[in-house]
Amino acid sequence: MEDCIFCKIINKEIKTDLVYENENVIAFNDINPKAPIHVLIIPKKHIETVLDLNTEDKEIIADIYKAIKEIAKKLNIDEQGFRLITNCKEYGGQEVMHLHIHLLAGKKFGENII
Ligand code: 5GP
Ligand code: ZN
Repeated sequence: MEDCIFCKIINKEIKTDLVYENENVIAFNDINPKAPIHVLIIPKKHIETVLDLNTEDKEIIADIYKAIKEIAKKLNIDEQGFRLITNCKEYGGQEVMHLHIHLLAGKKFGENII
């Protein structure tokens, strides 16, 4: 999608620190990290929010979770664990309207959301 910043990252029009890539998914470091490790996992298909996922996207959904597992192993956070967050629309605080999962790690999270 033309004006989508994450689509531009996918198309390599904007440079990022790529952490992981498979057929349907890419993951890269957040430009404004909220934790020692802050990775964004996104589908290559432009899907706006978690509410726009459909049955036809089941391979993409599977690949997102496959990516999370691989990234956790790659970054050595599979033992310690981590937090996953997806913001949805205005009240969820979603700023980029291209579905993404925040993977936050490298510190112990308490009851606070982040
Ligand atoms: P949201 O608030 O939509 O859930 O999160 C969007 C995230 O994307 C934010 O954490 C923000 O720092 C990150 N972000 C926005 N633009 C860019 C960019 O151009 N490059 C990278 N790596 N991250 C970005
Ligand atoms: Zn997009």
